[in-house]
Amino acid sequence: MDFQLTIHAALDRLRDGSLSSRQLTESLLQRIADTDDTIKAYLRVDGEGALRSAEEADRRRSQGEKAPLLGIPLALKDVICTKGIETTCASRFLQGFTPPYDATVVARLKESGAVILGKTNTDEFAMGSSTENSSYFTTHNPWDVTRVPGGSSGGSAAAVAADECLGALGTDTGGSIRQPAAFCGVAGLKPTYGRVSRYGLVAFASSLDQAGPLGKDVTDCALLLQTMAGYDPCDSTSVDLPVPDYYGALQPRLDGVRIGVPREYFGNGMQPEVEAAVRDALQVCRELGAELVDLSMPYTEYALPAYYIISSAEASANLARFDGVRYGARYDDAMREAADIIETTSKTRQQGFGDEVKRRIMLGTYTLSAGYYDAYYLKAQQVRTLIKRDFDQAFSRCDALIVPTTPTTAFRIGERVHDMLQMYLGDIFTLGLNLAGTCGISILCGFADGLPIGMQVLGGAFEEATILNVAYAYEQATAWHLQTPEL
Ligand code: GLN
Repeated sequence: MDFQLTIHAALDRLRDGSLSSRQLTESLLQRIADTDDTIKAYLRVDGEGALRSAEEADRRRSQGEKAPLLGIPLALKDVICTKGIETTCASRFLQGFTPPYDATVVARLKESGAVILGKTNTDEFAMGSSTENSSYFTTHNPWDVTRVPGGSSGGSAAAVAADECLGALGTDTGGSIRQPAAFCGVAGLKPTYGRVSRYGLVAFASSLDQAGPLGKDVTDCALLLQTMAGYDPCDSTSVDLPVPDYYGALQPRLDGVRIGVPREYFGNGMQPEVEAAVRDALQVCRELGAELVDLSMPYTEYALPAYYIISSAEASANLARFDGVRYGARYDDAMREAADIIETTSKTRQQGFGDEVKRRIMLGTYTLSAGYYDAYYLKAQQVRTLIKRDFDQAFSRCDALIVPTTPTTAFRIGERVHDMLQMYLGDIFTLGLNLAGTCGISILCGFADGLPIGMQVLGGAFEEATILNVAYAYEQATAWHLQTPEL
């Protein structure tokens, strides 16, 4: 079936003329119609727009154009602004908001000829680990629909896993690309902070947010990153460094590659099958020529509190703009009943934000307030420096680290919604990397009771080519990524 193709396989077919983008896009729209009532990966599908761009791509190809993603249908997480397509961040606050511009990553995908199928579900403003914080509905895991797809980019991961798009974009502030990639058995890459423009992403925690690709395999992530990466004058934190040829650098051996195995990422109450699968993967890497290096990253356990303090502090500042005047909805009844502007704003915020977003805003405001700033926010920033040092030291001895993505496989819908600590603890292996600001990819490395297990390959700053290559070599030597859920 055409909708099952990887991006690289589809490009071969589009190039040799045995498939048109129109046929491919129609096949995906049909797939969405057939499966998305069950999976609920999409908040909205732009069928008409997608078919129009597909025809345009076919026309461009017939005229000899060779843009790298010409005619490839993709999905975008709904925190990424799309000109002319509603962008809500899965929040009631932004219902009806249609951005007048494209995020830089979207503009780049379009220039490379990609076809945009629609916008995918997420936890509200990307705050969460399961998509259960979406104001609209929860997405279901294609491997077991009673389970969560992970989050916050759960819609993107589920859409890729269910063959409802060829690839997708997500964002990762504390693990939101890698954790859902792990739960849904696909590949997902969080780039180094500054590698990809943040212009046009709705901000959650500005010192941590990065957009990145989710794909059916490592090659597809390399192809998508190639298009997304690079300097953007509209984002002052994007870095002006040349973008290497990620795809061209992929090769199947790991001779001479030093892979670090930090002991803090293993044991400690994690699901035994997850640990076993990652340890098996390490042996595969060794057989491919890699050298394994045991090491310690002693500050790992402090990543979780530091992350939730820093990200919530930044969120409370970023979300202050949703005041019922400058950004987002203003509720009519809030207007009618309110005595003054303060009450209008607070009533609007009360109605517009969901519980988790309110929790983060309160936590963030508290840790930034006079008297608590030094004890919490400043302390968390100091811990962040120590965590970064852990990573720097590890990368001075190794080229990459291999660790599990999550301590368990996908949990059941509803299982953790009333226990936020349990929910947050699921992010324990992904958050540190965001605090350090470097790059990581999660790929499939096995199954436990039919549920995918993810492992991460983590790299130093701007070492995307290295982690893609380690992940690719492992993937070529195994067959996990070829398995698909039955739907
Ligand atoms: N699950 C984490 C959180 O809730 C990470 C979210 C993200 O990366 N956007 O903050």
